Amino acid sequence: MATIIIKYRKKPAKIAGYEALLKRLSIYHPKREVIEDLLKSANAGYGGEERLDQLMKYFDPDYPYLIIQDYSISSNIELQVDTILLTQSCVILLEVKNISGRLRFTINPSTLHQTTASGVERGLKSPLVQMEMAKWKFEKLVNSLDVALPIHAFLVIAYPNQIVEDSPPGSVIWSADEVMIRLQNFNMPPKILSIDELHKLGQQLLSLYSEFNPFPLAPKNNIAPNEISKGVFCPDCKSSKMNKIKRTWMCQSCRVTNPEAHHQAIQEWFMLMKPSITVAECKDFLELEFPSTVRRILKNPLYKKVGDNKTRKYYLDMQVDIHK
Ligand SMILES: [Zn+2]
Repeated sequence: MATIIIKYRKKPAKIAGYEALLKRLSIYHPKREVIEDLLKSANAGYGGEERLDQLMKYFDPDYPYLIIQDYSISSNIELQVDTILLTQSCVILLEVKNISGRLRFTINPSTLHQTTASGVERGLKSPLVQMEMAKWKFEKLVNSLDVALPIHAFLVIAYPNQIVEDSPPGSVIWSADEVMIRLQNFNMPPKILSIDELHKLGQQLLSLYSEFNPFPLAPKNNIAPNEISKGVFCPDCKSSKMNKIKRTWMCQSCRVTNPEAHHQAIQEWFMLMKPSITVAECKDFLELEFPSTVRRILKNPLYKKVGDNKTRKYYLDMQVDIHK
């Protein structure tokens, strides 16, 4: 049977956001280390999820199914699930964790203790609790669609170098390497949905999907606007600023030219500063001299303008993909 993935995973937008934030923060900024850690864990999380996708490539069970990768709802119930397997008999949620080192789960209260290779120990929120919450929310969601499928949820450890030393009694933790075979051999309860109802449920879930918006990152991390450096950065060497010269931008150090470099900077504004931008804000952020240049730049299908001349604001058109 062909793989039936009805939604694919893409690189989380917050990764590009944290990279932009680090680029625009002084190397002495006290928040740098925190942001570097956030970027590292976002990359690790995505890496773990991609590894599972890779290992699931040959998934070929003898039951009909649909897969949704990276599902989120951000309306009244905030819900995020790494992978959803929909079948006619049940729903299986997979929560993938990529936390290196030795992992010890304790209860009362539920915590995950991580000991890194260098011997540093830290306490983290228990992913088992997070998974139970996701399961409970998903149950409510499915019930609201008048579907009475039982829900199962499993925690998946992405890499073999994550050593689980203690897991609470009754909890089931799978390694990514065994997920495919466990799911293929899963003891399916009796069928509840017809094939048509299964596909309908898949489409209903997709119609409720809304991407989790992590932006703007500066206020969310209590970083003041004046701590973010302005200007257009070179897309090539990434560390140097560019100067506006006739019809293009030129890097101050590597001399690369790029006539469209301002769009990257404006996207970074939306990721870091605010969901909207005015001509004055854009002129200041791009360090340009003339409002007419700014107006010309913002007159682009990438941006949606709202309001009349005096109060005009521009928004990033959300159809535009900032996942890179
Ligand atoms: Zn450069």
